[in-house]
Amino acid sequence: MMSRPLMFAANWKMNVAPGEARTFIERFLAVDKPRAGRTVAFFPPAVSLEATATLLRGREHCIVGAQNVSWEPKGAFTGETSVALARGAGAAAALIGHSERRHVYGETDEEISKKVRAVLDGGLMAMLCVGEKLLERERGETEAVVTRQLRVGLAGVASNADIVVAYEPVWAIGTGRNATPSDAAVVHTAIRGVLADLGFSRDTRVLYGGSVSAANVAALLAEPEIDGVLVGGASLDPDGWAGICGTA
Ligand code: PGA
Repeated sequence: MMSRPLMFAANWKMNVAPGEARTFIERFLAVDKPRAGRTVAFFPPAVSLEATATLLRGREHCIVGAQNVSWEPKGAFTGETSVALARGAGAAAALIGHSERRHVYGETDEEISKKVRAVLDGGLMAMLCVGEKLLERERGETEAVVTRQLRVGLAGVASNADIVVAYEPVWAIGTGRNATPSDAAVVHTAIRGVLADLGFSRDTRVLYGGSVSAANVAALLAEPEIDGVLVGGASLDPDGWAGICGTA
């Protein structure tokens, strides 16, 4: 089986002010051991994008992304961040459709699709998050849910577009209850099938997220279908995060 270069992505959520980002990145760079082919992505809150990106400038293996963007290009949208504004602050990527955006802020598949296209049109990499809720899993709907989220989320997207998919079962996020590596692998295989059906290359990375920690990351990455991880809580400590990023 072909192996894709690993990606380790930190979702800081509503944490890490600009000054704290400085302290974090300095410490991370001091303890991180860069490895060939690996990418480390940081998704700070919008106000800390620029500080994070500035500190990582010239570090080829690191990228910075926005946690959310508007699909609108500019104008009277108080409180929103356009793709161009995020890019101006140093973002090379954006997280789209994170479960908190879907389920706390009510974003629909159609809105997420508009955001994915805006991100790609603006020249950034789109990391599309998909995942089922507990009830959906219990009803045996996991594959149907992620298939719908992918098909709608990627509608109108060219099959050579710069995308990464993150599979994050909603019941595993922030709960300490991660999907087992083999359960995750089953869904990753289904996701890969949908991507192939849509014409995306086998090189497209599919990350796992949801209660990833130093204790479980190696077992998750041992699955050939898991090409990296998207990490919330365990990405908030620079030493711990560097340790996770050092996992083979
Ligand atoms: P968690 O969050 O690692 O804290 O479960 C993951 C995410 O929401 O991306």
